[in-house]
Amino acid sequence: MIISENERNLETKEFEEWSKDYDEIPDVDLLKMKQLLEKPLVRCEIKENCTSYYLSGQYCRCARTLFPHQSHYEVYKKLLDEKAKATLITCLNKSND
Ligand SMILES: [Zn+2]
Repeated sequence: MIISENERNLETKEFEEWSKDYDEIPDVDLLKMKQLLEKPLVRCEIKENCTSYYLSGQYCRCARTLFPHQSHYEVYKKLLDEKAKATLITCLNKSND
């Protein structure tokens, strides 16, 4: 993939803005979290075509547009984990019946 210097700089700048610590990080929007958990995050379908994914991996622009700050994304990932565990436990309990 050919990435221009401009694109690379923009990506770095955007990512820094998104991940930096500051006083007014907005509160987590629980309703939105709930919606995202029900209908999991769809990021760039074709990763090879996403310049941002190439540069930032899981934190690519497609994920960044959904969350106002990186900390929200981390919360989301934890919740997703918990949800997966809960589902697994439910399945295990069912098969024990
Ligand atoms: Zn992407």
